[in-house]
Amino acid sequence: MASPAWHYVLKFIITGDAAVGKSSLLVRLTDQRFLANPDPTLGVEFGSKLITLPGPEATIVKLQCWDTAGTESFRSITRSYYRGAAGCLLVYDVTSRRSFDSVRTWLADVRAHADAHVSCILVGNKVDLVSGGEGQEPRERAVPTEVAEQFAKEEGLLFTEASARSGEGVEEAFVRAAQEVLGKV
Ligand code: GDP
Repeated sequence: MASPAWHYVLKFIITGDAAVGKSSLLVRLTDQRFLANPDPTLGVEFGSKLITLPGPEATIVKLQCWDTAGTESFRSITRSYYRGAAGCLLVYDVTSRRSFDSVRTWLADVRAHADAHVSCILVGNKVDLVSGGEGQEPRERAVPTEVAEQFAKEEGLLFTEASARSGEGVEEAFVRAAQEVLGKV
């Protein structure tokens, strides 16, 4: 028998304040590119991607990822957005303390509306800004890695830092959350 195109289909959602890079992470995952000046009114709503989980038998997972597409500032995120989500990326910007402080509210929202077993990964995006490079002056980091790591530990979240711009850590974030989801199956 031919091997299946994928073994599992998982719904993932991406939450966090406006401008932390949610659409950019989704575009990086699905299209391997970065838009320096995306149109903020045209958030990317949906992207699909096959990922392979490492292991003795490669498991192929089809991720169906939903982004809030600019609706986060209107607080109009509805129950249907959360319904059936297996994984969730809680995104903040490592140069914005405010976006990190908001994660608590986003997490409360996820816990109130998503299924109880949803796997969440806290993602500190835009790490490229604090390391400089590519002719950029390094920007000041507002959220120390250890602070975010400690918060994730207390809340039972996975944690990573990433950059939609460079691609660093992006696919890994989705892979780790998917691994946790399937570990519970
Ligand atoms: P969203 O509102 O959370 O979906 O955020 P966007 O994906 O629209 O990104 C907001 C702004 O941050 C845009 O100007 C992006 O180009 C920029 N951005 C997103 N991710 C990164 C990143 O990893 N590094 C840098 N330097 N800029 C980023």
